[in-house]
Amino acid sequence: MARILAITNQKGGVGKTTTTVNLAAGLALAGRRVLLVDLDPQGNATMGSGIDKRALTATVYHVLLGEKAIDAVRVRSQAGNYDVIPANRELAGAEVELVDLERREVRLKEGLAALGDQYDFVLIDCPPALNLLTVNALVAAQAVMIPMQCEYYALEGLSDLVNTVKRVRANLNPELDIEGLLRTMYDPRNTLGQQVSEQLQQHFGDKVYRTVIPRNVRLAEAPSYGVPALSYDRQSKGALAYLALAGEILGKQAAN
Ligand code: ATP
Ligand code: MG
Repeated sequence: MARILAITNQKGGVGKTTTTVNLAAGLALAGRRVLLVDLDPQGNATMGSGIDKRALTATVYHVLLGEKAIDAVRVRSQAGNYDVIPANRELAGAEVELVDLERREVRLKEGLAALGDQYDFVLIDCPPALNLLTVNALVAAQAVMIPMQCEYYALEGLSDLVNTVKRVRANLNPELDIEGLLRTMYDPRNTLGQQVSEQLQQHFGDKVYRTVIPRNVRLAEAPSYGVPALSYDRQSKGALAYLALAGEILGKQAAN
């Protein structure tokens, strides 16, 4: 059965999409069958995987509204060697349109169930909000991965997110776990960053990945070429860090 992870943090710009795209490419490079689900109307994960969001006529929006089967929407990221359920602006409407529909929280889960055993990993890139789209991701997932910058306010936002996870667990998805917290855009020279990083480890222990993602310009450049950093510059510090993260996740899985 696929391991389904929701990459989520309601705070914007913390590295969710960068993590989803590069972890997908890293796991694919390790020989795993990977599906990336873009659940953000910004469509950044779609574009970053080399798929033109403006040219799409079938997206995750149609799956959520029950208008199309998931395999009719799926496209291939040639650059990343994984499959993508893409998104574009149209998805912003789903927020509103889903509200009146029944089983509105389980639509992604049901869509993914139709794929059966085709993947080892499904990575869901969430929007920067705790909305119905994110709830769909948390219901579909077995666990959440939380990318975060080590800033002062990061810990505050984290407790909101942890409470949301608890609520979803109590009401909609009893299996939901926290897979891990990922420190992103890390600068070891920043003292505040070090302090927040230490607090994080005190609070969450081994839920904090050992792998740390450094601030690295290659990670920011790659999306403008529509490729994961692993294809753009495999030797860059950023690409190597995501490869290490893929290794850490596979190691954890093997140990369980
Ligand atoms: P949003 O909440 O808008 O969806 P996000 O959490 O998905 O944002 P990203 O889009 O991954 O965050 O990253 C925000 C910006 O920071 C992007 O321009 C990205 O290229 C850049 N970035 C992400 N991670 C790194 C890094 N480790 N080093 C340098 N730049 C990074
Ligand atoms: Mg994003």
